Amino acid sequence: MPAASTPSRGTVLVTGGSIAGPSAAYWLARTGWQVTVLERWDGPREGGQNIDVRGLGRDVLDQMGLTDAVRAANTGERGTRFVDGRGRTVSEFPVDEGDGDGPTAELEVLRDELSRVVREACPDDVTWWYGDQVEALEQDDDHVSVTLSSGAAHAFDLLVVAEGAGSRTRGLLLDGADAPELKRLGMYTAYGTIPRTDGDDDWWRWLSVPGARSVSLRPDDRGTTRASLSFMSGPNGFDRLDRDAQVAQLRDRFGDLGWETARVLDGLEDASDLYVEDLTQVLSPTWVAGRACLLGDAAWCVTPVAGGGTSLALTGAYVLAAELGRLAPGEHPAAGLAAYEAWMRPLVEDVQGLPPGVPGLANPRSRIGVGLFHTATRIASTRLVRNLAGRLTSGPRTDRALPVL
Ligand SMILES: Cc1cc2nc3c(=O)[nH]c(=O)nc-3n(C[C@H](O)[C@H](O)[C@H](O)COP(=O)(O)OP(=O)(O)OC[C@H]3O[C@@H](n4cnc5c(N)ncnc54)[C@H](O)[C@@H]3O)c2cc1C
Repeated sequence: MPAASTPSRGTVLVTGGSIAGPSAAYWLARTGWQVTVLERWDGPREGGQNIDVRGLGRDVLDQMGLTDAVRAANTGERGTRFVDGRGRTVSEFPVDEGDGDGPTAELEVLRDELSRVVREACPDDVTWWYGDQVEALEQDDDHVSVTLSSGAAHAFDLLVVAEGAGSRTRGLLLDGADAPELKRLGMYTAYGTIPRTDGDDDWWRWLSVPGARSVSLRPDDRGTTRASLSFMSGPNGFDRLDRDAQVAQLRDRFGDLGWETARVLDGLEDASDLYVEDLTQVLSPTWVAGRACLLGDAAWCVTPVAGGGTSLALTGAYVLAAELGRLAPGEHPAAGLAAYEAWMRPLVEDVQGLPPGVPGLANPRSRIGVGLFHTATRIASTRLVRNLAGRLTSGPRTDRALPVL
């Protein structure tokens, strides 16, 4: 791991302070950039459910020296159990079987915990700005000039946009033929934190039911339980409804189900962090514009269905710093940004290219479909299912060595 070095390469503005942004700050500051991170929330953003670090993301985390810190913040999930409508186990995947990259990864952590761990590992000379965002930007050969919502104006040598799937600054950089395609996967998910009960254990319990719906409960390390309800649907604006209307629609769609569903519905109604997502992949023809680039979900959101979004963010931040590190001091960043994109794109496309039938396969419409899905999880040792499951849970992998940094 390179030690923190004296800033000499120039100034960089990183927008977004979740996972990709602080990871970029970590590596860029250590490779000679003077880094400012701009997060639009008033402080470090709290919230978010269970995310995991897999594949190449684990290698990068190791190089950051943060594996033990993330392990210490683990949610404590012991594995994944598919259950039937009465809560009986249909099949189970303990975390300690295999290489730690099954449905439950070895490194499972709450999003805000991982964000904190990476943020706290950044060198002291990284500057953090909160409660503001880019309103306008202009570039010439020498600088990227930004005007913030507060009215402040600044110029940087480089801009890294790590604002997540709904990034606004991305729209100021890429338009027309360069604008990303936003590809719906046809699935809505509502997440929230609910009270833990004595019946909750440390397994991720997942119920799939007819009507292309699923209910899931996961442990955390804060004495609460992380619940989610998912359903397949064409676009119906569910994510944009107000909270009461969302809860009412969830009750309509899930109210007929047994197991823990009534408790989940009550819990989500009271949850302070109810969050609804219309699962959408970001497919961007380019991630680079002049002295600026996209990183993480802003560039390539894969969605939790594909998995690996956090690992790609960690990996992308490392690769970006490594490729920029090959430039001569003061050199225009174009060649480094192009090399970053060339290295990351095959990895991202591999994760984004979901196997046929996903996510519908895990959310079957009919009783027969649910039976088939259960059978498939039971015979997870057959090659077909093992390949499918492995493909979905292994995280970003490649035979190529990471670029040297
Ligand atoms: C609150 C929250 C909850 C999440 N919950 C889950 C979850 O439960 N499960 C899951 O798999 N993934 C979740 N994610 C997504 C997950 O963190 C990412 O898929 C992955 O880790 C890659 O992270 P990222 O940093 O690229 O994007 P994100 O984690 O989406 O972070 C983007 C950051 O940019 C900030 N931002 C947005 N717009 C601007 C702007 N214009 N200017 C400055 N800052 C801006 C956001 O506030 C956020 O901090 C969540 C993300 C967030 C922000």
